[in-house]
Amino acid sequence: GRCVVAVDGPSGSGKSTVSRRLAVGLGARYLDTGAMYRAITWAVLRSGIDLADAGSVAKVAGEVDLRIGTDPKGYGVTADGVTVDAEIRGPEVTGAVSAVAAVPAVRVLLVTRQREIIADAGRIVVEGRDIGSVVAPDADLKVYLTASEAARAARRSAEDATDVATTAADLARRDRLDSTRKAHPLAQAADAVVLDTTELGIDEVVARLRDLLTD
Ligand code: C5P
Repeated sequence: GRCVVAVDGPSGSGKSTVSRRLAVGLGARYLDTGAMYRAITWAVLRSGIDLADAGSVAKVAGEVDLRIGTDPKGYGVTADGVTVDAEIRGPEVTGAVSAVAAVPAVRVLLVTRQREIIADAGRIVVEGRDIGSVVAPDADLKVYLTASEAARAARRSAEDATDVATTAADLARRDRLDSTRKAHPLAQAADAVVLDTTELGIDEVVARLRDLLTD
């Protein structure tokens, strides 16, 4: 039957790894909504428009042909037919994505797309910042993952080989932008299960979520 799991939390909280593993275990699809904001940001940067010009950012976002797969074992992202999986993880996109994601029209567009993908999939684990609060308020399970700033910075810097201090500064900057923007700020849904992953291994977190789903 239908089963929607919403996983929210700040960068480096373990969302992606946990969400993908949970989806594989459940035989469900997986949607990385951050990758969608990143792909739109890639298209905005390519267009050369001013990031501070919300109207132009919204226009580019509305015109780009964005496609994203939902296989938790490997999904591709394309923008206007260009494979952007590597580019959307680079420093240029990471540095600009929070500004693009703060544009209300961009969010309306992507939330609509995300809801369509969720409805099509039926069984799906969805990760992001506003999934339990905005995209799928009726999710079967809402999870909010946290971890200490030090743990989050250490994980991210191990992933992308950037030094810990630079990563920590980038995470702090993005968290601040993501949680203070007016449209759909990063927030814990009132009915979300909060898990601090600082001291927990991935397998433990995934096991707890599976227990919560079978309760
Ligand atoms: O999860 P990830 O770090 O790839 O997300 C990149 C950025 O996309 C976040 O910092 C945030 O600005 C934005 N985002 C968002 N809402 C989501 C997912 C991501 O605003 N549901």
